[in-house]
Amino acid sequence: MTIALSQFDEVRLDRVSRDFGALNALRDVSLTIRRREFIALLGPSGCGKSTTLNCIAGLLPVTGGAIWLDKSRVDTLRPEERGFGMVFQNYALFPHLNVRQNIGFGLKMRGKPKAEIDRKVDEALNLVRLRGQENKLPGQLSGGQQQRVAIARAIVIEPPLVLMDEPLSNLDAKLRLEMRAEIRRIHNELGATTIYVTHDQDEALSLADRIVVLRDGVVRQVGTPKELYDAPAHLDVADFMGFRNKLQGKVIGSDGSRVVLDVEGARISGVARESLSAGAAAYAAVRPDDLMVGEAGQNAIAATVDTIEYRGREFVGTAHSAGGLDFVFRSHQPVEPGSSVHLRADDQRVLVFAEPIQGRH
Ligand code: ATP
Repeated sequence: MTIALSQFDEVRLDRVSRDFGALNALRDVSLTIRRREFIALLGPSGCGKSTTLNCIAGLLPVTGGAIWLDKSRVDTLRPEERGFGMVFQNYALFPHLNVRQNIGFGLKMRGKPKAEIDRKVDEALNLVRLRGQENKLPGQLSGGQQQRVAIARAIVIEPPLVLMDEPLSNLDAKLRLEMRAEIRRIHNELGATTIYVTHDQDEALSLADRIVVLRDGVVRQVGTPKELYDAPAHLDVADFMGFRNKLQGKVIGSDGSRVVLDVEGARISGVARESLSAGAAAYAAVRPDDLMVGEAGQNAIAATVDTIEYRGREFVGTAHSAGGLDFVFRSHQPVEPGSSVHLRADDQRVLVFAEPIQGRH
């Protein structure tokens, strides 16, 4: 391949902080990214994903900590000295330059000879499958094609790191799925190291080797998609991983890994994800898929059905309890809105957490 990305072993964020006045947008973010990893930064709006990416890129100075590329400190360098490739949500293409000129721009600025620029741009065009489009202006391309140009432009400078900030947000659902697969293919073919910002859990799970979950400027959990999906470490991470049902109760017994809660008089048992002592307030978290209409008894809670929708193989409904808990559940049978049911959770699939963190510290 003509495009050969700069090689390194790891990028390390060492207790990186970024303040905006009194707001601590990032607090002591430490993270090691290994070469060839695809890392997703995931979290709700305002958690600090873009700030992290911009600090790595050099578009924002850090206010504390350091960023290392192997043994070189890079947070003190200007963005162009770091030389990382950036892909933005809005593509940020030059409207008056054609595809070839857009992709070659960074190489031209670096004073590379024309023959080298042509060779590398050709290869980038092949890689993002835009051959035949090179003379078009961005305005003559679809959103997906513009995103391909933006990706080609980011990788043609042979960056050690490719940074992507919500690159698929402006695309419709079908194209988003297609480009998602394309981004992973390009990452693999190039042997790139990619840091990818998203608030979309599915995108992070399907793309990343490891996911970093941020909240309020703090790293809440780092793990593979499977680790985060199966074993979120905190309630807010579980929430992000689809545990829509959060049943607040009190701990009545625990034997280490298993814990039993009293939730509005019902006994709900599950797997303890945090240390919990008897009498403590706690939450049982359950995915809608694992909360089924069933018989009264252990791990079942009484509820009144609010809505029910047919989803082909089964029904998905919402319900509430007498104490005001809300549920999303599934059912093999139709159930009438207004009817009383028992919602039963598989106790292997209930995770129990301590009280969530409360907003910003
Ligand atoms: P989103 O998905 O909405 O972009 P995010 O997770 O990327 O969210 P950031 O954009 O990193 O979040 O913002 C983190 C926090 O820092 C937010 O509270 C935001 O309002 C604040 N912030 C970001 N940029 C600035 C700025 N230039 N000046 C002041 N506050 C800022």
